[in-house]
Amino acid sequence: MAEVEIDLYEVLEIERNASKEEIRKAYRKAALGSHPDKVPEEEREAAEVKFKMVQQAYDILYDEEKRHLYDTHGMGAFNGSGDPGMGAGPDLDDILAQMFGGMGGMGGMPGGARPKKPRRSPNEEQKYEVSLEDLYKGRTVKFASTKNVICSLCKGKGGKEKAQAKKCSTCDGQGFKEVLTRMGPYLTQQTVACSVCKGDGSFFSPKDKCKKCKGEKVTEEKKMLEIYIPRGAKEGDKIVLEGEADQVPGQEPGDIVFHIAEIEHPTFRRAGADLTATLDITLAEALAGFSRVVVKHLDGRGIEITHPKKPGQVLHPDQVLKIPGEGMPHKRSDARGDLYLVVNVKFPDEKWTPSPAELEKLREILPKPEPPIQTDVVDEVEYDPQGDLEDFGANDPRGGSGWEDEDDDEPAQCAAQ
Ligand SMILES: [Zn+2]
Ligand SMILES: [Zn+2]
Repeated sequence: MAEVEIDLYEVLEIERNASKEEIRKAYRKAALGSHPDKVPEEEREAAEVKFKMVQQAYDILYDEEKRHLYDTHGMGAFNGSGDPGMGAGPDLDDILAQMFGGMGGMGGMPGGARPKKPRRSPNEEQKYEVSLEDLYKGRTVKFASTKNVICSLCKGKGGKEKAQAKKCSTCDGQGFKEVLTRMGPYLTQQTVACSVCKGDGSFFSPKDKCKKCKGEKVTEEKKMLEIYIPRGAKEGDKIVLEGEADQVPGQEPGDIVFHIAEIEHPTFRRAGADLTATLDITLAEALAGFSRVVVKHLDGRGIEITHPKKPGQVLHPDQVLKIPGEGMPHKRSDARGDLYLVVNVKFPDEKWTPSPAELEKLREILPKPEPPIQTDVVDEVEYDPQGDLEDFGANDPRGGSGWEDEDDDEPAQCAAQ
């Protein structure tokens, strides 16, 4: 049977960023389409499993907290019960593996055959924060990781070499129990692993337990791991260490999956392969030009600019200087994005105290003002040089502010039917 990683988003046929409303709609559509009452007799069994899966997907994805857990840890976060860390519970992986692992030999799910163990232990998903410098240059990172490995003494048996495991009386050796669980609006019968024997159907008495792993079948081991962050990698990229997740007896180990998160940079902002930064210049530089290093790039190089190229060109606030090829590298290619420098003119502050003669000289050098405005009456007025546009419209008796809040209220949501 093929190994299939089942994705709850795929079950509902929605995007990973689907809204709650989209999830609800997709759920209704999928639930109707797979309702066991709506299919021919011979497809009923399969439909029941699909129906149950759709309900589970909805149950997890519609709940923000559970959805977050699923997004970060995958199904490993749920021991099937929908509540992380609650121990015994139906294993959705089992249900899904049965669903996709072929319908044959199911022996009447739900309510019958012992669920098979998933063939892979859960992946470990974790966020990995990387600086923009490292994403620019690429980097190899080594770190120590502790993981469960199959006990080397008992080879995952859990008991001493010649010892026989005893049949669990709680579940009569079955390893599971049937319970009724609430799944959203539905009551469903669920197969739950036995908590006494942990789903094995048998266990070793204390004196027969393996001395090394104390019957746990696995031991903790420290291992040095190494990941390579390729240059040009970006937020959301995954780095997979295959088979490095915790080992579980009888299963292929899952992967450790790192999700790259980009640390905000004090100088550069990134969009795809392009970079942008602020180019601070003085008023004198804006008018008279300059030739200097304007920014230290992510690899430590100084980026030098000479302005103007022809005498007399002035730099304006918010003018953009585009430097081709100085953006981020593209992955697996020599191409690079571009660097956009946005001009910020720093006007002189109160520390600048020119003499009247100097100011007169400036007036002579700089362009002359527009001709004066002609009116019949002229009032000379007082003013506050530190006015604030936040106050603009604030005294409107209707409570309206001159500034519209960008709150696009969506039309009232229809109540769930
Ligand atoms: Zn052992
Ligand atoms: Zn048991």
